[in-house]
Amino acid sequence: MSQEFVPAGSVRPAPAFQCHIIVAEGQILFRAGRFVLGELPLPAAQVAGSHYLGELGGRPCGVHRLAEPLAVAGCEWRGLRSLLGAEDELHFALAGRAMQVASWDRDHRFCGRCGAATRDHPRDRARVCPQCELVVYPRISPCVIMLVTRGEHCLLARHAHHRHGLYTALAGFIEPGESAEQALAREVQEEVSVVVGGCRYIGSQPWPFPGQLMLGYLAEWAGGEPAPDRDEIAEADWYHWRQLPELLPPPQTLSGQLIQTFVDENNNRQ
Ligand SMILES: [Zn+2]
Repeated sequence: MSQEFVPAGSVRPAPAFQCHIIVAEGQILFRAGRFVLGELPLPAAQVAGSHYLGELGGRPCGVHRLAEPLAVAGCEWRGLRSLLGAEDELHFALAGRAMQVASWDRDHRFCGRCGAATRDHPRDRARVCPQCELVVYPRISPCVIMLVTRGEHCLLARHAHHRHGLYTALAGFIEPGESAEQALAREVQEEVSVVVGGCRYIGSQPWPFPGQLMLGYLAEWAGGEPAPDRDEIAEADWYHWRQLPELLPPPQTLSGQLIQTFVDENNNRQ
């Protein structure tokens, strides 16, 4: 079977699912080491909502949301974060997509403007308020993630509130009215008091914790020495590309890929 996933655009009417993903409260149901199941392993009456996601290997694939992680014979619940690095890129992205669609479905049963119960949109993946006509699509929050570089050095930071203690690139949410480049410059200034000049877009990555889209950049240092704000950033310093700290983000993450791009580019110059 081909492992390609083709996401659905318009989602109604949805075809009958041949692959099923079951989620509840940020967890995903596994049976025999897999979360894409050939059949629904529980009574349909226990499902609080279902959404068509697209075709996986040519087979219609859908997500089912349960109100809570019920015990299902022969199955176990796992947190989405535990799939990072344990599943291939396609399956991790599919699990993230399923979780985000299910969370949006759960969180928008009622209109945020007038409080009336919402309904499914006739064609799109959206909830519609029958009273005031507000339409709510799944919310994605754009973020920038940037590795500040200064010749053969890059700026890595350790976050104050993260238990893993990794040395990573800086990141932050884009504010309403900001471009990605403006957000990047503001976040670097706020978090470590460093001024950046030109930046170069490297790539993007959906990050389903809970619904970010990360836009990754390499940004050139233009002034200032790193002075962490201590509130968010515990430590920040320059590291030579040959002498990076051991605790780096995994290669599945965009932060890990930015660091690798910087190392590769320096290596190629040798
Ligand atoms: Zn309304």
